Amino acid sequence: MSSPEIEALVQSLSRLPGLGPRSARRAVLHLLKRRESTLQPLMKALEAVDTRMTECGTCGNIDTSDPCQICTDPRRDDALLAVVEDVADLWAMDRARLFSGRYHVLGGRLSALDGIGPDDLTIAQLVARVRAGGVTEVVLAMNATMEGQTTLHYIAEQLQDAGVSISTLAHGVPVGGELDYLDEGTIAQALRARRIL
Ligand SMILES: [Zn+2]
Repeated sequence: MSSPEIEALVQSLSRLPGLGPRSARRAVLHLLKRRESTLQPLMKALEAVDTRMTECGTCGNIDTSDPCQICTDPRRDDALLAVVEDVADLWAMDRARLFSGRYHVLGGRLSALDGIGPDDLTIAQLVARVRAGGVTEVVLAMNATMEGQTTLHYIAEQLQDAGVSISTLAHGVPVGGELDYLDEGTIAQALRARRIL
């Protein structure tokens, strides 16, 4: 067994998503073996985000400035607004580098089971943002879950008379996906959304 300090580090790392106790232990060993090239830069980076991290008052993104980098980027299209459930979804969508507009983070999804209603999400702020003008298309980029789709339909209703076009993400066969491995719901959705070549 290692010292309490090392065990504490393993413990706190293994609480991170995607890291179990085994991979946390491997990461710790890696950090300890290469202090100068990995441990010290990691400590600096952690401290920098810890002291500077903030939530963007415009879109809800997490960044080190408010407004965030995306909201202040002059190359982005103000007319296009993508609505996502969480910051993780914003980051995932932005990694694809295909969407050139701006974002709005809801802070979750409607869920009767968990007692999350419209007032618990930033839906009112979204409607106000769209009604303030400048946006021509709202992309409702909700997850393909039942709660995600409930949220999507609710927001579409709220924006019905806002004078903007509303689009949604296509659902279907994922890139690299094989039909044999997909569930019936995904195949049915892909069939409904089929395109003429
Ligand atoms: Zn922002």
